Amino acid sequence: MRYISTRGASPTLSFEDAVLTGLACDGGLYVPEFFPALSAEDIAGFAGQIYEDVAFIVMKPFIGDAFTDTEFREIIARAYSVFGHDARCPLKQLAHNHFLLELFHGPTLAFKDVAMQLIGQMFQVALGRAGKSVTIVGATSGDTGSAAMEAFRGLDAVNTFIMYPHGRVSEVQRRQMTCVAGDNVHALAVDGDFDTCQALLKDMFSDFDFRDRMRLASVNSINWARILAQVVYYFTSAVALGAPYRAVSFCVPTGNFGDIFAGYVAKRMGLPIDRLVIATNQNDILHRTLQSGVHEKNDVIPSISPSMDIQVSSNFERLVFDLYDRKGSAVAQLFDGLRADGRFDLSPGALSRLRNEFDSGRVSEAETSRAITDFMRRTGAVLCPHTAIGALVAERQVDASDTPVITLATAHPAKFPDAIEAAVGVRPNLPKRMVDLFDLEERATRVAGDLAMVESVIRERTNI
Ligand SMILES: *Cc1c(COP(=O)(O)O)cnc(C)c1O
Repeated sequence: MRYISTRGASPTLSFEDAVLTGLACDGGLYVPEFFPALSAEDIAGFAGQIYEDVAFIVMKPFIGDAFTDTEFREIIARAYSVFGHDARCPLKQLAHNHFLLELFHGPTLAFKDVAMQLIGQMFQVALGRAGKSVTIVGATSGDTGSAAMEAFRGLDAVNTFIMYPHGRVSEVQRRQMTCVAGDNVHALAVDGDFDTCQALLKDMFSDFDFRDRMRLASVNSINWARILAQVVYYFTSAVALGAPYRAVSFCVPTGNFGDIFAGYVAKRMGLPIDRLVIATNQNDILHRTLQSGVHEKNDVIPSISPSMDIQVSSNFERLVFDLYDRKGSAVAQLFDGLRADGRFDLSPGALSRLRNEFDSGRVSEAETSRAITDFMRRTGAVLCPHTAIGALVAERQVDASDTPVITLATAHPAKFPDAIEAAVGVRPNLPKRMVDLFDLEERATRVAGDLAMVESVIRERTNI
């Protein structure tokens, strides 16, 4: 399998290179040259299989010869052995025709673990074989940073530095970064806000001397391997409900459009998905795009579902590429417009294709909080704020059709204790395997929001 850029002006790459490169040099995102198809028999054969075996079959056509079959099976096995549930991503019934896909049984309690654990193992094998090492640098406002640190800790081919805004992440989120044991993972508490961290990251990648010497790499949400890992649970959950003989719909709490794009990939591969429903909080750029055909950035308004507080929905570009018959020049023109004017208009043809596959809904802050209370009262389930948004939007879908709907439960409620306590009056408990989180020693380096200072800390720690 080869990978091409959504803007059509970068060299095609192998899986390995696409994953290590991240952003294409024309500013586009890498996508596979085509979507490999699985037959109905292939899909039917997933029934009763363990998660890892399905993962191997679903992802195999995408990785080319990056790994031997044995290597790839071992990578998958190691990635998911740390999950706190045998089924890895179990499906639970919430109400008639409404199911929850629990994606929070990984080490940091959010779905980001599903992809990050896999990427960590992939990097280790690919780099180890080549005798190389890389320095991964990331900026986080919450869930991605801790997932990356957990995934890369102890892997000797990788040093990892995660910048977070000092004093501006929740205690659980901070401890999930500062309490990670491992000499190769480093939490940097930056004086500034999330934008400061992101700007530092961007400047670091533009400092070519530093970038090349440190062999900087990134595992942000546009990394193709992250999408790929997420395709798997669409298959396992749909098959549990009767696919390929019965269609299902999915409702996905969405920010960067990565998780739901993985559902679109599953559908292109042959999984019978009826509707893909985008659920957004008050930062509703995607919902507005579906309503009006205008993709327009607003300012981010902080919410109680912070992992979806996004107005630049990076992975949407991958879908736009398909909506425009995979014409890179058309995509480049649209996204140049977005950068220059903060908006673009979808053509009538592209908009109708978008609406053929996707529905959407927006949930306000008050509705989110009420939904957490309401679902607990009605079903006993305590949902994280992101999941509550998905579940609320999904209910409208369940009422409108006979097709079962699966809502993706993207985080464990204990990750967002303040929002849960405000809604239902009690603080959710951390899972048993994590109860010591508040007793562990914290380890972070406080650093000024200044490129030279951050670079010097990284150089010092890596000895490169
Ligand atoms: C990252 C995240 C999301 C949004 O996922 P995208 O792939 O960016 O759409 C939703 N919920 C939680 C808890 C997250 O961490």
